[in-house]
Amino acid sequence: MKVVVAVKRVVDFNVKIRVKADQSGVELANVRMSINPFDEIAVEEGVRLREAGIASEVLVVSCGAQACQEILRTGLAAGADRAVLVRTDQALEPLAVAKLLKAVCEREEAGLAILGKQAIDDDANQTGQMLAGLLGWSQGTFASSLDISGGRAWVAREVDGGLETVELALPAVVTADLRLNEPRFATLPNILKANHKPMATITPEELGVDIRPRLATVRVEEPPRRPNCTLVADLPQLVAALKGADGPRGAS
Ligand code: AMP
Repeated sequence: MKVVVAVKRVVDFNVKIRVKADQSGVELANVRMSINPFDEIAVEEGVRLREAGIASEVLVVSCGAQACQEILRTGLAAGADRAVLVRTDQALEPLAVAKLLKAVCEREEAGLAILGKQAIDDDANQTGQMLAGLLGWSQGTFASSLDISGGRAWVAREVDGGLETVELALPAVVTADLRLNEPRFATLPNILKANHKPMATITPEELGVDIRPRLATVRVEEPPRRPNCTLVADLPQLVAALKGADGPRGAS
């Protein structure tokens, strides 16, 4: 069974996000970019499936600009076998990405697609669900464990108040939650090996996919600033501060 893992290039999670002065989006110039953290977990899961003899090949796929090659190399260094860049300089909405991934899954005759549960830049949490819908495949979202045997998959999902386990018929789409696994560190030999693994580039046109945007971003704003903090020296000062001009906290 071939496994397709989708990886997105996003602003690194350590970077403090700045909104552009014209409020049209987030500042990306000279900002450190990385693989989406949930996608690292997705790659690790795919590689573990191959190591367990369940997957025959792990293919990492990213849709976006040429620079996405960097994170595809990260996926290859983590153990994926092959990479595909669906290259476009246009901004991509989750629906467009889902259509591109569908085309790749069909071309590759994949039996499983693993995505992150959400991208930390747009927080859309849509692509996996849309991909499953477009392909007509089963879906197991927010997976915190994945077991596969005999053409079926069991996905444990964290829900309010516990764990829900769903049984899926393959082919399926699974989206990775934080606790699915702990991704391994890429070793230097594996980083070097990644440079020699195959990476193909394809365009949305070649896949016959219309990626025109359906949405327009009206405005992006920073969250309201927190009021200034006051440092207090001891408990009496804290009590006095809490009883300050606004009255005790929680008073209506
Ligand atoms: P989202 O629906 O945008 O929150 O993204 C959910 C998941 O879809 C991500 O964790 C990735 O696995 C995948 N994904 C989203 N955008 C892309 C992209 N441009 N290229 C490859 N995979 C993507």
